[in-house]
Amino acid sequence: MAINPVSLMASPGRGHYDAIIVGARCAGAATAMLLARAGLKVLAIDRKPYGSDTLSTHALMRPAVLQLWRWGLLEPLLKAGTPLVETTTFHYGDQAITVPLVDGSDLPGLIAPRRTVLDRILVDAARKAGAEILHEVAVGDLFADTRGRVRGIEIRAAGRASVRVSADIVVGADGIGSLVANCVDAQLLRQGAVSAAHVYGYAPVEPGAGYHWYFRDGIAGSFIPTNDGLACIVASVPTSLFDQRFRLGHARARIDVLDALSPALAAQAAQAPKDARLQTFRGVPGYIRQAHGPGWALVGDAGFFRDPITAHGISDALRDAESLARAILDGSEAAFRTWQQQRDMIANRILDTTDAIAGFDWTLNDIGERHRRFSAVLKAEVQALAGQPAPPRRAPSSASKPTTYRAPANQDKPLAGSNLSRDRTGAGS
Ligand SMILES: Cc1cc2nc3c(=O)[nH]c(=O)nc-3n(C[C@H](O)[C@H](O)[C@H](O)COP(=O)(O)OP(=O)(O)OC[C@H]3O[C@@H](n4cnc5c(N)ncnc54)[C@H](O)[C@@H]3O)c2cc1C
Repeated sequence: MAINPVSLMASPGRGHYDAIIVGARCAGAATAMLLARAGLKVLAIDRKPYGSDTLSTHALMRPAVLQLWRWGLLEPLLKAGTPLVETTTFHYGDQAITVPLVDGSDLPGLIAPRRTVLDRILVDAARKAGAEILHEVAVGDLFADTRGRVRGIEIRAAGRASVRVSADIVVGADGIGSLVANCVDAQLLRQGAVSAAHVYGYAPVEPGAGYHWYFRDGIAGSFIPTNDGLACIVASVPTSLFDQRFRLGHARARIDVLDALSPALAAQAAQAPKDARLQTFRGVPGYIRQAHGPGWALVGDAGFFRDPITAHGISDALRDAESLARAILDGSEAAFRTWQQQRDMIANRILDTTDAIAGFDWTLNDIGERHRRFSAVLKAEVQALAGQPAPPRRAPSSASKPTTYRAPANQDKPLAGSNLSRDRTGAGS
C-alpha cells in the first residue's frame, strides 16, 4: 500500500522504522535517500507540499555540486533544464574579477537549481531507493521512553487523534525553527554575532550567464542564473540597515541597493514582470547546535546555520547528510561522536569566514582577502569530500538491511531537562 497521511493514521501499527526524518528538503531528503540506499527502513515527513518552493536562493557551491554528482543526481538536475554556470565574477566597486569554474575536474561547472527542482529530485531519489516520504503532514511532538531516549514522533491531524510512529532514531532536518531541536533541548554550542537581510526576485536572463557577486561599502548583491531562463537577483544589507531602509517598501529599496551596486544589475532586475513577487529574509545570526543525543540527531539548518551571503547552506546540508548517514549505519556511540567533531570543525570554519563577510565591517580593500579565506575553507572541504568512499549501497537484489547495521547505540543515557513527552508506561524502553 502506498503511504499517505490517512494510511499512516489509520494503521499506526504500520511498523517500526530504522529512521524517521522530520523535514524532507535538502538535508532530510538526502539523508532519507542515503539511508534507504543502504537498506534501512526510512520515513521522512514534511509539512510542505511535494515540489514546493521555500525561502532560499539556490546558488550551489562546489561541495554541493560534487555531492550531487557523486550521488548520481547532477544529470537529472541538468536534464530538468538547470543551466550550467561556468564562470563566477566578483565585482568590488568598479573592479570585476572573473574566475573560470571549469577546472579540469569531473564537474562541468556549477548549478543553481530552483528549490522546486532540487528538493523534488532529492525526494524522487529517496523514494526510488525505498524511503517512504509524506508531504503536507506536520510532526507535532516527539515521544521518549522512561529513560528519556527518543523513541519516535507524534503526528496530529485535524479531526483525528494523534498517532505515534516509532523509530531507532529521529533525525531533525526541519530547518531553522527545528521542532526536534526544541523538543530535545539541543544545546547551543555557538551563536554568531551578525546577520544580514536578503531581498530577492527573478528576472529573464540570456543563456550562458555566470554567477556575479557585487560589493560596495555596506551593501552587496548577487546574480544567480537558474531554471526557466531566469536569474535570481538579490540585494543584501546588514539587518540594521534593512530595518531602517526597507521599512517603507521592499521593491524600491531593493532597486536602490542594486542600482548603487551596478546600474546594469538594477536594469536587469527591472525586466521582471511588474507583479513579480519578492522574497524577503530579515536575517538570523548563525548558530551551531549539539548534533545528536539519545535517539536523535540534527542535520542541515536544524543543527547549523550560517548567513546566506556565502551561499553555503545547501553544501552544508548535503555534506552533513552523508556523514550523519554513515554514523547511523555504523550505529556506535564513537561514530556519532566523530561525526559531531567533524561537523563542528568544518561548521566553525564556515561560520567564521561567513560572518567575516556577513558582518559588513569590511572595506573594498579587504573584502577580497576575506573571500580568499572563505575559498580556502571550500577548497579543503572539496578535497575531503572527493577523498571519501562512495556512500554505502545495498545490492539492488537484496531486500534486507545491511548485515553490519545495528540500531544507534547512543540510547542509554537519561536526558535531563528536555521538552519531551515521556512514556509513563515505559513502552519501548
Ligand atoms: C534567503 C536565503 C537565501 C539562501 N540562499 C542560499 C544559496 O544561495 N545557496 C545555499 O547553498 N544555501 C542558501 N540558503 C541556505 C539554505 O536555504 C539552507 O541551508 C537549506 O535550505 C537547509 O536545508 P534543510 O533541509 O536543512 O532545511 P529547510 O530547507 O529549511 O527544510 C526544512 C523542512 O522541514 C519542514 N518542517 C519543519 N518543521 C516540520 C514539522 N514539524 N513537521 C514536518 N515538517 C517540518 C519544513 O516544512 C521544511 O520543508 C539560503 C537561505 C536563505 C534563508
